[in-house]
Amino acid sequence: RIADKQIKEWKYTTCGYCSTGCSIEIGVNEQGNAVASRGVADADVNRGKLCIKGIFEHELFDAAGRGNHPLVRDQIHEPYKEISWDVALDTMGEKIKAIQDQYGKDAFAIVSTGQLLTEEFYTLGKLTRGCIGTNNYDGNTTLCMASAVSGYKRSFGSDGPPGCYDDFSHTDCLIAWGSNLPEQHPVIYWRLKEAKEQRNFPLIVVDPRVTMLAQFADIHLPISPGTDIVLQNALMHVILKEGLEDKDYIEKHTNGIEELRACVADFDPTSAAKICGIDEDTIRHVARLFANAGRAMSIWTMGLNQSTHGSDAITGCNSLSLITGNIGVPGGTSLSITGQCNAMGTREWSSCSGLPGYRALEKEKDRNDIAEFWGIDPEFFPKKRGLAQTDIFPAIETGQIKGLWLVATNPMTSMPNTSRIRKTLEKLDFLVVQDAYQDVETTQYAHMFLPAAVWAEKEGVFTNTERRVNRVSNVQPPKGNSKSDFWIFSELSKRFENGKKITFPATPEEAFEEMKTLSKGADRNLDISGMTYEKIEQARGLQWPYREGATDNDEGARLYTDGKFATPTGKANLIPLPWIDNNEHPCDEYPFWLNSGRVVEHFHTRTRTGKMGNLNKYSPTPYMEMNPDAAAKLGIKHQSYVRLASRRGDAIVMVQLTQRVAPNAVFIPFHFHDCVNRLSLGLLDPHSRQPAFKQSSIRIEHVDQK
Ligand code: SF4
Repeated sequence: RIADKQIKEWKYTTCGYCSTGCSIEIGVNEQGNAVASRGVADADVNRGKLCIKGIFEHELFDAAGRGNHPLVRDQIHEPYKEISWDVALDTMGEKIKAIQDQYGKDAFAIVSTGQLLTEEFYTLGKLTRGCIGTNNYDGNTTLCMASAVSGYKRSFGSDGPPGCYDDFSHTDCLIAWGSNLPEQHPVIYWRLKEAKEQRNFPLIVVDPRVTMLAQFADIHLPISPGTDIVLQNALMHVILKEGLEDKDYIEKHTNGIEELRACVADFDPTSAAKICGIDEDTIRHVARLFANAGRAMSIWTMGLNQSTHGSDAITGCNSLSLITGNIGVPGGTSLSITGQCNAMGTREWSSCSGLPGYRALEKEKDRNDIAEFWGIDPEFFPKKRGLAQTDIFPAIETGQIKGLWLVATNPMTSMPNTSRIRKTLEKLDFLVVQDAYQDVETTQYAHMFLPAAVWAEKEGVFTNTERRVNRVSNVQPPKGNSKSDFWIFSELSKRFENGKKITFPATPEEAFEEMKTLSKGADRNLDISGMTYEKIEQARGLQWPYREGATDNDEGARLYTDGKFATPTGKANLIPLPWIDNNEHPCDEYPFWLNSGRVVEHFHTRTRTGKMGNLNKYSPTPYMEMNPDAAAKLGIKHQSYVRLASRRGDAIVMVQLTQRVAPNAVFIPFHFHDCVNRLSLGLLDPHSRQPAFKQSSIRIEHVDQK
C-alpha cells in the first residue's frame, strides 16, 4: 500500500521499459529511497495507467547485480580488477587507438541500444562519428525495428511513424500485423480497447498464434509464418481489382501505381490463400472492410519487423494505407509500434545509420553541415553507412573487427544463434561492456566493464512510438560509483585528438540545445526547436514536429497531413513486393515452426525484470507453448520437460499445452538466457539487416524427467 510507504515526494519521469512512453512518478521517502511508482493522471499517453513493469519500476534502483566499479582484465578467463574511472577511460582510449592504428579505423566497432536518453545518443554519435572515427557503429535496435525504419524510408523518403495513439479514437478499421499489444505494450492496448469499446470498429489481427490481442479481435487471420507480403498483395489485388482504391489520392500523392498493380495482379485471393493459409473469401472480406471503412489503419510490431521480408512488409502496410488515402488523417495511418523506450531517440539522433537529425552519410551537404557545426573536417566522416549489428558479429569472425564496445545490450541472450555469438566474442582482442548491471551474460566475455546509471538516475528525454518527446529526470543520483552514460561518453571523448579540439556539451540540457539547433529547417519533420525541458514536462510530452514559436502540440500529432513526402518528387512510393520464399521451413528432421515473443512481466533479456521479485514470481522460467494434438502424437505431457534441437543448437524447456499454437508450431518467450536463441536461425532481411527470429524449424525430443 502506497499510503504505508511514507513518501516525501513524487518525482516525475518517463517509464524506462517499452516505447509506449508512460509518464510515471516515483515516490521517494525521507531517506531518499525510491519506494513506489504510479502513473501520471494528466499525461495524455497513459492517463494514470501503468502496466505491471511500470508499477514495480522503483525496485530497479536497488536491484541485485548493479555494477559499482569499472573493472578490467587482460584475458577473459582471469578475475576482474577494480580500477578508477580515469584509468578505465585512459586504458579504453589507448586500446581503441592501438586497434585502429594496427588494423584501421573500422576495426573497432560500437553497438548501442534503444535504452539510453536521447541526449546520450546524440553525444555517443558525436564521440563515435566525430572523435573515434569508426564507421562500424549500430544499435541493438537492428534486432527490433530496423525493418520499420527501412520500410518508412522506402515508402515515404524518411523515417518517423506518421500516426499516433489518438488515431485509435478516429479509425473505422484496424489491422494489427504481428503485434500482441496486451503483452508487449499493455497501455497502448488499453488505449485501443477503450477506443474500440466506444466506436466498435472492426479489429483484424494477423498472427500465426492466437495471441491475447487475437482473442480480442473480430477477425483473426492465423497466417502461415513469414507470408505477410503474400496476404498484403492479395488485399491490394482485391482493392485495385474492385476499384475500391482512392484514385484521387493515388494520382496526387504517390508514384508507382502501375508497377504495384502489375505485381499484385499475380496475387489473386485463390492462389494467395494456398501460400498464406488464409481462405480466399476472408481475404476478400478483409480487403473490402479496410478499403470501405472510411478511415483505416495498420499497426505492427515484431511479427512483421523480425522477418526476411520485414522491410517489404512495412512498405506493404504503407502501400495499403496510401492506395486507400489513409495517411496523415485522423484514424488513417500506418503505425509501427516500436519496442524499446527510446528506440526512436536512437533513430533520430544517435547516428547509428547516419548523422544526427535523420541526416545521411551519403549526402555531402549533410556531412558538411554536421562537420561545420561540430568544428571538424568533413573528410573525417565515412561516405556511406558501415556494418549493421548483425553484420558486425560475422566481421569479428573474419578478423575484420578486433575491438567492440557494447552499450546496454546483451547479445549473449538477444542475438540469434547464441552459441555462435559466444565463440565470436571470444575472438575479440578487446571487448568493453557498459551496463547498469555487472551480471549481464555478455560481461563474461568482456575485458572491461563500465558501470552505468539506470534510466532515472539521469536527466534527458525519450521519444516514444508516436514521436512524443518526454522528460526523464533523475529521481536519485547514480548508485555507488556508477556514472551516467552521458558522462562516460563526454569523458572518453577527451582521450581522442578531435575530442580535445571540439566542445562536448557539459550537461544533457546543453546537448538538447545542440539537437534543437540541428533540427531546424522547414524541410524536416524532425524539428524540436520549439521544445524546452520545462515545456515538455508541463505538457507531459510533446510530439515532433514542434517548431520554434509553437504553442500547442497540434502539428506534431500526424505526419504528411499535406500529402507531401520526403522523396525527390514529394510523392510517396508504392513498392511492388514480389514473393520469394526464403524461410527455414519445417521438414522431416525439424518438423515444427519455432516462433518467439514477449510475456508481459519481462523486458528484453531480463537484465532488469529478471531481478524484480514481483515480476519474476509470475514468470520465473522459460516455457514452450505446444498444441495438445501434436503433443499427444509424441506422447508429451503438460508441464513435462523436452529437449528442442535445431540446426544451430539445443535447449531444454517445460511444455505448456495450449490451443494458442497450431499443431505444426511452437512458441517460446525470448527473454531467457540459453533458451530460444540457441535455436533461432536469424536469416537477415536484405534491406534492414534485421534477423528473422520467428521463422526457424526445430524438432522436439523427450528427456529424462528426473
Ligand atoms: Fe512502461 Fe510500457 Fe508498461 Fe507503460 S506500458 S508502464 S511504458 S512498460
